[in-house]
Amino acid sequence: MTRPIAKAANVTARSRRRQGSPVLLRAALILALAAVCAMATPVFLAAARSGLAPHIGPSGPAQAAASQLPMSGLQTGACMSLEPSSAGAGKTVFLDPGHGGLDPGVVGLAGGRQVLEKDVTLAVATRLATLLRADGYRVVMSRTSDSSVTKLSATDSVAGALTASAEHRDLVTRTLCANAAAASALVSIHFDAFDDPSVGGTETFYDAARPFASENKRLAKDLQTAVVRALGTSDRGVWTDDELAAPTLTAAGSLYGHLIELGPAATGWVESPSKMPGALVEPLFLTNPAEARVASDPAGQQRIAVALRAALAKYFSGA
Ligand SMILES: [Zn+2]
Repeated sequence: MTRPIAKAANVTARSRRRQGSPVLLRAALILALAAVCAMATPVFLAAARSGLAPHIGPSGPAQAAASQLPMSGLQTGACMSLEPSSAGAGKTVFLDPGHGGLDPGVVGLAGGRQVLEKDVTLAVATRLATLLRADGYRVVMSRTSDSSVTKLSATDSVAGALTASAEHRDLVTRTLCANAAAASALVSIHFDAFDDPSVGGTETFYDAARPFASENKRLAKDLQTAVVRALGTSDRGVWTDDELAAPTLTAAGSLYGHLIELGPAATGWVESPSKMPGALVEPLFLTNPAEARVASDPAGQQRIAVALRAALAKYFSGA
């Protein structure tokens, strides 16, 4: 099995891993646990932004409203609760589309066009939210538009890039949102990158240091298996988040050695860790042109969303 690309020890040349991203952002991408697909679901997104109920067509029934959870320091459209669109599960799933706003995440190329990780993660998460709501789940999304989750001030960016402390706060805010949602599972969606454009595949991370580590692992395996099966990608495996190594942006981040959204408490870094099983899935490499094409294609995004939905169904079934 291929070692995870994210592990510093497994990658000789990391300096250009996050191509096109400002230096400040690069390590933040590692720290982090993921074009708005407005064409696919304009009504949903517009509703999510405005807090109004989306409708199915001009005279269709109103679906559940999108409402922001009562937390301080949130960006508009962040930490939005979406009610189920059919009766069912009675469970809440927290979806975290990685990155957003000033943080583009990985920058790839498909057919000469830039593919930004923040756009693809949001497109997949939005599609997944629609599927899950139809299955009867309440969904809370860390963000519903191209923005950070935490509200930013002028001092949170330098030369158009988020500072390390703002990135940290953004990830902590995502974690707090998951807890405020009282979610049963946390799924963070990201896409991968590497210097060598021939490298591709799927990998998923979980935290082994939590009391619910076995559920984390089961969720991660279900997500990984479903995506690999659906996309026919190279199975790069399921890894613990300390394999990600290199939250190198700051000394505190390196010391922590976990993904903020998945890892345990650490004074001054993660005061309130996530309270539910979670995993971070990276379905494709945006630096691989063929995979970037799939990731940026609405049909590809739907395939990923369908796979993640099946994985969550399997996870919740306990099978
Ligand atoms: Zn990412």
